[in-house]
Amino acid sequence: MSRVYNFSAGPAMLPESVLRKAQDEMLDWQGSGMCVAEMSHRGKEYMAIAAQAEADLRELLGVPTNYKVLFLQGGASTQFAMVPMNLLRGAEGADYLNTGSWSKKAISEARRYGRVNVASTTEDTKFNRAPVQSELKLNADAAYLHFTPNETIEGVEFPYLPECGDTPLVADMSSTLLSRPIDVSRYGLIYAGAQKNIGPAGLTIVIVREDLIGQPLAGTPTMFDYKIHADNDSMYNTPPTYAWYLAGLVFQWVKDLGGLEAVATINRRKADLLYSTIDASGFYRNPVSPESRSWMNVPFTLPSADLDDAFLKGAKAAGLTTLKGHRSVGGMRASIYNAMPEAGVQALAAYMQEFERTHG
Ligand SMILES: *Cc1c(COP(=O)(O)O)cnc(C)c1O
Repeated sequence: MSRVYNFSAGPAMLPESVLRKAQDEMLDWQGSGMCVAEMSHRGKEYMAIAAQAEADLRELLGVPTNYKVLFLQGGASTQFAMVPMNLLRGAEGADYLNTGSWSKKAISEARRYGRVNVASTTEDTKFNRAPVQSELKLNADAAYLHFTPNETIEGVEFPYLPECGDTPLVADMSSTLLSRPIDVSRYGLIYAGAQKNIGPAGLTIVIVREDLIGQPLAGTPTMFDYKIHADNDSMYNTPPTYAWYLAGLVFQWVKDLGGLEAVATINRRKADLLYSTIDASGFYRNPVSPESRSWMNVPFTLPSADLDDAFLKGAKAAGLTTLKGHRSVGGMRASIYNAMPEAGVQALAAYMQEFERTHG
């Protein structure tokens, strides 16, 4: 068997040891005689798996006790609607930072439910940087401020946390949650689809301050009401049981690595290696302002798009897959989430240097 280094933006690589553990437990989870996917979500065994995963995530992130951690379905895209439906709470509208493809989608969905104040946009420069604090035109009456700490498609990351006073800060952390320590108490709500850094697609994590929930817009479907899920420990209906279990194995793996400080050190090293390879080359180019470069998604172009196919073909032969850039951006994109081993990034950097030598 040979596994490849998969640079997909998501669904992305999972740690090999997690997959092996799941394989070991596939037919018989710890003497239960069942696969986790076959268990009742209300049975003793599954309840223990779910509770352990939540406890481990809370420990890793240092989630304060006045925050609920929800294990939902529907992906981050469903959160684009659930956030305004639940957090507008009678206010006219909310502030949004427009920094790339995903924040754009969040904005257009929020417009269905309230007034959106686009407090800053970098669209005029093709989303090549995060705005600085002094550019943000925040509205004092906003119900919340929504931003996307890491724009997965453009490879743009906020190097700071926006200040918004008493206005709750809402973050789409789909491609950055668990990549480094964060201070949860600075946020009103954090959400993330799992398939980048956390586990398989089909699971969505929401971390929300308790006082913000319980006043959904009239007509909000029951399944879109955070309070319903919070009051039922994310088991109002059948949760994505197997994805939740796998995420739990990933949380244990992160703890075994030494927690989020240790993970951040490795992630920074991986990103530094790729960016320095690009910057040293004069062949490859990354369009993002240095201070806003993402640790997780590294887009880069070759001197001519005519070289793209040869680059991808050679990469695939070297066991480096899914490097093609997003269709809206072109070029290449290397996504290097937690589960991408350092050896994978080293192999990519070496391949890039060799390709430049033979094609430059
Ligand atoms: C992947 C991604 C999404 C979309 O996630 P789905 O789970 O497919 O809905 C939204 N926001 C960001 C930042 C992402 O990276």
